[in-house]
Amino acid sequence: MPILVMKFGGTSVATLDRIRRAAKRVGREVANGYDVIVIVSAMAGETNKLVGFVEETSPLYDAREYDAVVSSGENVTAGLMALTLQEMDVPARSWQGWQVPLITTSAHAAARIEEIPTANILKKFEEGMKVAVIAGFQGISREGRITTLGRGGSDTSAVAFAAAFGAERCDIYTDVDGVYTTDPRITSKARKLDRIAFEEMLELASLGAKVLQTRSVELAMRYNVKLRVLSSFEEMSDEAGTLVCAEEDIVESNVVAGVAYSRDEAKLTLTQVADRPGIAAAIFGPLAEAGVNVDMIVQNISEGGTTDMTFSCPVNEVKRAEKAMADAKAAGLVDFGRLVADTDVCKVSIVGIGMRSHAGVAAKMFQTLRDEGINIKVITTSEIKVSVLVDRKYLELAVQALHDAFGLDRAA
Ligand code: ASP
Ligand code: MG
Repeated sequence: MPILVMKFGGTSVATLDRIRRAAKRVGREVANGYDVIVIVSAMAGETNKLVGFVEETSPLYDAREYDAVVSSGENVTAGLMALTLQEMDVPARSWQGWQVPLITTSAHAAARIEEIPTANILKKFEEGMKVAVIAGFQGISREGRITTLGRGGSDTSAVAFAAAFGAERCDIYTDVDGVYTTDPRITSKARKLDRIAFEEMLELASLGAKVLQTRSVELAMRYNVKLRVLSSFEEMSDEAGTLVCAEEDIVESNVVAGVAYSRDEAKLTLTQVADRPGIAAAIFGPLAEAGVNVDMIVQNISEGGTTDMTFSCPVNEVKRAEKAMADAKAAGLVDFGRLVADTDVCKVSIVGIGMRSHAGVAAKMFQTLRDEGINIKVITTSEIKVSVLVDRKYLELAVQALHDAFGLDRAA
């Protein structure tokens, strides 16, 4: 039997009623002749609640226990989904990550998948089981501790299962009906894309378009997994959703495919840093060790042998960054004047593979922001993207203006 992977996000399993609706979809695919691997997230809001419990209990928590707690939301939905399918006379059972076992690295809260043995589950399919329900987001390290794959990690579970089992497709059911040119909550002109290239999706995902976890897109690209994003609230149809695919499979597209944003960013500047070889290593080494996800980095012109070093990171990592820098300074590893943190910024980016062959895209972005009176604080670019940091209060305005400027409300 061909295998299909179906992943249901938190909103699609938020209530027993929704679990029933999701199960009906699974039942229809079984009737279509598939053996189905279902990956479930925790009920909407559940993981946030669990993270909150952990943080309240222990601000500098042991990541192994964090994983033990936050992985539990998926255990509930996996069991409930299997029970719901059984009630519909569809032979199904659930697996928690350790039962598969889905083996990961021991990087707790951000573990990477190393191995998914298929024999157990395939044997059950041979024996007549129709649906394997897997608790997403979780695995087990070689040390035998429960791990999680980072927030949004059940997308990655889904793609990894699709790759391991050679699934015909990996359908990601979520609360939106596909990938949009930007967040439809910010502008009603946002348009659903029929197709998007892996590279573009990768940028959009890493820039905070929360539809898919970045890692899941990387995996899909590497193993060429046909990935479809679709809504669990709409009627099924073959054309539904957005197909994330190779660049060659896209005929026409706009120069800019989408506008992404990330709301909770912080800009940190170290003043009067000695301008000498090794200084960047001395700063970003300790930050990396402290688990700070540094994003943009800008070093300014040097005057009198010192320079300012500016970088950005998620706003909830500022405390870690400050501590890491204070410790490094105290240990004599790095010398600087002050650390100035601006915690009221956001990042807005335009993304598109068309930028490779079009000049003037960045200039147009800057002109558009100028016309709205928005000050740009940091700029970075890559081959297919331009990102800026601006004051958080301008987030909506910047996204709307750029969406208009690049004509994203119209198909190419
Ligand atoms: N429940 C987990 C989270 O919210 C994993 C997921 O839903 O993908 O991050
Ligand atoms: Mg998600």
